[in-house]
Amino acid sequence: MTARSSGGAAAHRVVLVGAGFGGLYAAQALKRAPVDLTVIDRRNFHLFQPLLYQVATGGLSPGEIASPVRHVLSRQRNARVWLAEVRDIDVERRLVRMEDGEAPYDTLILATGSHDHYFGHDDWEPLAPGLKTIEDATQIRRRILNAFESAEREPDAAERKAWLTFVIVGAGPTGVELAGALGEIANDTLRHDFRSINPAEAAILLVEGTDRVLPAFPPDLSDKAERSLLKLGVRTRTHTMVTGLDRSGVTVRTGDASDRIPAKTVLWAAGVRASELGKIVSDRTGAPLDRAGRLIVEPDLTVPGHREIFIIGDLANFSHQTGQPLPGVAPVAMAEGRYVARVIQARLRGVTTPPFHFFDKGTLATIGRNRAVAAFGRLHISGPIAWFVWLFVHLMYLVEFDNRLLVLIEWIYDYITRNRGARLITGGQ
Ligand SMILES: Cc1cc2nc3c(=O)[nH]c(=O)nc-3n(C[C@H](O)[C@H](O)[C@H](O)COP(=O)(O)OP(=O)(O)OC[C@H]3O[C@@H](n4cnc5c(N)ncnc54)[C@H](O)[C@@H]3O)c2cc1C
Repeated sequence: MTARSSGGAAAHRVVLVGAGFGGLYAAQALKRAPVDLTVIDRRNFHLFQPLLYQVATGGLSPGEIASPVRHVLSRQRNARVWLAEVRDIDVERRLVRMEDGEAPYDTLILATGSHDHYFGHDDWEPLAPGLKTIEDATQIRRRILNAFESAEREPDAAERKAWLTFVIVGAGPTGVELAGALGEIANDTLRHDFRSINPAEAAILLVEGTDRVLPAFPPDLSDKAERSLLKLGVRTRTHTMVTGLDRSGVTVRTGDASDRIPAKTVLWAAGVRASELGKIVSDRTGAPLDRAGRLIVEPDLTVPGHREIFIIGDLANFSHQTGQPLPGVAPVAMAEGRYVARVIQARLRGVTTPPFHFFDKGTLATIGRNRAVAAFGRLHISGPIAWFVWLFVHLMYLVEFDNRLLVLIEWIYDYITRNRGARLITGGQ
């Protein structure tokens, strides 16, 4: 099928792979463009990853943070949506290859994001799940709730303690948010639910390799976050690396000292690596990759030597603004998505555009009820005000109005009752 522009000529074919933050914002910004847009994603939904930790800790249900891509783009006449995984790209013939077909393009936008990275220890993945997909979140929820259930029935004190010990590896925003939510589960949510154990006796340990939690935030906010975590019963261990991991616990190293921590639940929030398509594009075009597998892009987000291929979001390393890669966060992906849509439309009009520039509006992380930290340039805030800003921003960026409403109702209910309604143990072991 080939769409026609209003002048009757075949419309410019844009293929966009990945309907996450970067891809979806690019697609929507192309709404009025004279293009024939094909959006390809291997999942049929856009996932709001910043709230995954709430699914993992029983605060929200999966459907509340995911929106079907087909529905989101249903009124966009120039866009079609395909559910498929892109496996390869033929840059000479300008087509993407899926398992069962091909899609030709004039312009290609790749926005396939990133996945958890175990730094050479892929065998740790089944032992310490990361948080990247809905399945990861429900698996973590299952493990956390099962740990309390197993502790309730465990007669041996040492084993019971291991069931009630939770280790979270990596104290970036995801690790801090998970640890804070776990602290609330142990201290508040499950307070009256057990007979043999006291959930508040759970040990929650946040392990971080650098010198502080939230290393990407200003140091004063890291301090505040650490103090808030402590109030929730979360202990942090900085300058500490995980050196071993098995079903019964973790081995960590701080300086020269090694330590064994018996723990039945270990969660991974220590880093991500760009999607495999980065390597494929690099192999096909000779474009350089950085150590995290991201494609090093030109100032207009194209692949060197291929002005028809744009790379955005977590898959891109854009270092032209500060000399350092822009962080792998949603606002960067969204801004890049909107920018490439502008460039494509400008090119069709024969107009040149300035290089991409990211305007950083600020960074936020929440640590639990009434607790968050936020940095807006030199303005640093924490506590309830930062928490309300966090709530507002996250609600506003949920893609669909229905989800915003559902999440708002859920949050108000949870705030009043201190409950977490989605505490279901589902799926396998
Ligand atoms: C747990 C967690 C918490 C986070 N919290 C925050 C936060 O609080 N604030 C913030 O700003 N950022 C946060 N982030 C980071 C933010 O979510 C990412 O930076 C952002 O999603 C990147 O957008 P993207 O478009 O590059 O990729 P993604 O949003 O990851 O989208 C990639 C899309 O590509 C699809 N895809 C991948 N490979 C293929 C393929 N081969 N074929 C077809 N489709 C494919 C995927 O299904 C997916 O839909 C968080 C991330 C995680 C995991």
